[in-house]
Amino acid sequence: MTEKVQTFLAGRWRDASGPAYTTHYPHDGSAVAQLHGATASDVDEAVQAAEKARLQPAWVKLLPHERAALLHRIAQGIRANSEGLAQLQRLDNGKPIKECRALVASAAGTFQFFAAATETWEDAITPARGDFLTLSLHEPLGVVGAITPWNSPIASEAQKIAPALAAGCAVVIKPAEITPRMAIELARIAQQAGVPDGILSVLPGKGSVVGDALVRHPLVKRIAFTGGTQVGMGIQKLAAEKLMPTSLELGGKSPTIVCADADLDHAVAGVVYGIFSSSGESCIAGSRAFVHASVYEAFKARLLAAVKGLRVADPALESTHMGPLVSQAHRESVARYVQLGSDEGGQVLCGGSRPTGGYYDQGSYYLPTVIEGLDNTARMCREEIFGPVLALLPWNDEADLIAQCNDNDYGLASGIWTRDYKNAWRIGRALQTGTVWINTYKLFSVSTPFGGVKLSGSGREKGRQGILEYTSQKSFYWGMNEAPLPWAAQ
Ligand code: NAD
Repeated sequence: MTEKVQTFLAGRWRDASGPAYTTHYPHDGSAVAQLHGATASDVDEAVQAAEKARLQPAWVKLLPHERAALLHRIAQGIRANSEGLAQLQRLDNGKPIKECRALVASAAGTFQFFAAATETWEDAITPARGDFLTLSLHEPLGVVGAITPWNSPIASEAQKIAPALAAGCAVVIKPAEITPRMAIELARIAQQAGVPDGILSVLPGKGSVVGDALVRHPLVKRIAFTGGTQVGMGIQKLAAEKLMPTSLELGGKSPTIVCADADLDHAVAGVVYGIFSSSGESCIAGSRAFVHASVYEAFKARLLAAVKGLRVADPALESTHMGPLVSQAHRESVARYVQLGSDEGGQVLCGGSRPTGGYYDQGSYYLPTVIEGLDNTARMCREEIFGPVLALLPWNDEADLIAQCNDNDYGLASGIWTRDYKNAWRIGRALQTGTVWINTYKLFSVSTPFGGVKLSGSGREKGRQGILEYTSQKSFYWGMNEAPLPWAAQ
């Protein structure tokens, strides 16, 4: 049954003012939620309310330990509702339930981490060059616009809301049109935890309408964006017009490197997990596997056996490895890339089609796909597919390998499989990526900064320093004596 969903906008539960729309469960295409998209005037209302609320004593006067307590209550609220949130996340984007549970747990951990960061943050007394005191203080930037994609909503939303609230900002969040539920539930939990009305609003709807108006709004002082590179570039251009700081977490085409001395079973498991978990709908998906020529055939045989064992199934089942893609339109885009790979001379070793029969016929499923025989310059190896498609490429010479890995517009993440720490260090330092995983892949901790280089973005999320992204620095010079100033004696 379709649930009617209201949003939390400027301190009130209500429908947004734009047209109604319906979201669908990717597993079977059934309608899940009906809600209204926001309009530019809703954006203005939410931002004005956020600006007003953030200057009220109930927010601005909160001491760091009080703000921390509030964030802890949000973390507790997420944990208390974790199973319900995970199930909603599954209905929103079709991720397997186990992955949804992990995302919910990570969101709670993010609030807990930034509670600790805000409570223990120390401003600096800087060395003074005279008889005065110099202080460097951090103050909240103001209203933050947070814009998120559909692939891991609760985690990417928590990574923006938690540090922004920790810093004392107000947040207007615009989730992806097709996955609005997590942001709305986070607003509910935040309200119950005692976040004052107006401090957090959620504006579902179209990026070209709601996201655009949010970026342009004069009272929005920072944009935290996760999404595609083209949209991120447009946001950066608009931000330049008001000299607004942004963080842009964008796309990727991440290489994973298997060295001749790698533990092959370990590497196979890591490469399979790196590309096929989340059905490849992951910015850090390891979509190009460079395998040393001396172990290429052995690796390929074990890889294909492992892929054959993946369970592509109903995301509600605990045993599912890969659920459906987020939509039929996205599946068609993935299928077009696989066709392009074939046209470019690649051989499809497995997958390359949708599964059929039973619920597969209604859902937007696509089989895990491995292609070999392509050159690294092929479009399929250059462009982000954001689906379960792996290009397998042999390598021989390390300098050429590194050149190929780096010969890409993106620079988000990479993986190296080797038993020799010297290989890992040398290659890892040479790769142009924001994250390097060695003998592992897709591990995350909120205490470690995350972000990309090149067209994968700028700015960092997570890490204790992540809170600084939502602050501006103010310098104090405080005279400590009554000695006359230079012109006073004249
Ligand atoms: P998208 O760029 O189409 O949309 C992301 C968000 O931006 C959505 O909320 C969308 O409505 C909004 N938007 C669209 N047009 C806008 C505009 N003109 N102004 C303002 N906002 C606008 O991306 P998507 O398809 O939702 O997500 C997939 C992309 O996200 C992939 O490229 C993926 O790599 C990237 N991603 C990156 C990370 C990371 O941390 N680097 C994490 C997850 C996803």
